Amino acid sequence: MNNQDLQDSTVAIHGGRSLDSHASSILFPLYQTSTFVHDAVGVDKGFSYSRVSNPTVDALEKAIGALEGTPPAVCLRTGMAAITTLFLSLLKSGDHVVLSDVVYGGTMRLFREVFDHLGITASFVDSSDANNVESAISAATRMVFIETPGNPTLKLTDIEAIAQITKRHSILLVVDNTFLTPILQKPFELGADISVLSTTKYIDGHNATLGGSLATHDEKLLERFRLIRKTIGTTQAPFEGWLTLQGMKTLPARLRLHCEGAARIATWLEAHPAVDRVFYPGLDSFPQKALAERQQRSPGAMIAFELKDGLDAAVKALNSVKLCSRAESLGGLETLITHPSTTTHADVEVEIRRSLGISDGLIRLSVGLEAPEDIVADLEQAFVAED
Ligand code: PLP
Repeated sequence: MNNQDLQDSTVAIHGGRSLDSHASSILFPLYQTSTFVHDAVGVDKGFSYSRVSNPTVDALEKAIGALEGTPPAVCLRTGMAAITTLFLSLLKSGDHVVLSDVVYGGTMRLFREVFDHLGITASFVDSSDANNVESAISAATRMVFIETPGNPTLKLTDIEAIAQITKRHSILLVVDNTFLTPILQKPFELGADISVLSTTKYIDGHNATLGGSLATHDEKLLERFRLIRKTIGTTQAPFEGWLTLQGMKTLPARLRLHCEGAARIATWLEAHPAVDRVFYPGLDSFPQKALAERQQRSPGAMIAFELKDGLDAAVKALNSVKLCSRAESLGGLETLITHPSTTTHADVEVEIRRSLGISDGLIRLSVGLEAPEDIVADLEQAFVAED
């Protein structure tokens, strides 16, 4: 049956899957091997070395491609390996990239510590206003790289509006869709050329693996990504690939519950006297709610909020939670609570942090799958805890 006829929850379980030819096990087998034996000189079964390709990683690539609605994706060792492979595949010295100012801190660091020194430059702009993106494009610009919702304030970028600009300038539009996944946001339907995922987050969903993927309809780009991946050695490992392949089957079901819980917790936070401000695209108070409704299937399951008493209150709350885990990352079953100004964005200059709306009192919540009332009770006791 054609994937296009199936709902996302069915595609997540069956899309791109084939039975293993050896024993017809219902789960695709883990080929935990570095190399493959050739039948004769120049004769093999399609695999020779796992840095180039591996049947288990291949199976994951077909499954992610089915979710993205593209040919098989290219899977990499981490989300950052995916982003690094993307840039190394398509950019050379003298080239320029325009990025959202709210991209993941690691993507910023990649330019500061690596690509700047290689003569590849970047402009980080507030892409929530498409005019800023257009103004930053020069003759040297090869691509626009956006992340929406942005981290941690969930600022949105209108993918369709940016796609019109990149098409006019004949440059590529890349969307880091890690926060929503292809289930809740479909970048290709909105005009994007390439989708990036850190599969570490919702795709695996169990905080068990690191991984990343690159998807596109363009076979030449996919070929280029595979060539660079095998050259620099960023290929996903078989065991991580196998775990991710199992985890992603429940992605649509998990996301329904993640989002339901997030909506309840965001509404409760907004009404709480200790809370100054809540950033959640499903709330009426969210300035870009209309864009979220147009572009996303759901507001998602990430929330940011500020406590009235600022830094001291935020640190006290973080140190007092009992059920929420003080941990970086997002998208897993466990609710994670982070303090962006001392963790994910600690090495971003203070003025830049402020301009991005990351105050010292800002707290980010990745809502997990615990009962929302238990998370609410945990936060309530943390807000009133004594030192
Ligand atoms: N993109 C986004 C939006 C992220 O949040 C992260 C990590 O937090 C990455 C990319 C990098 O992914 P990884 O940690 O798998 O390298």
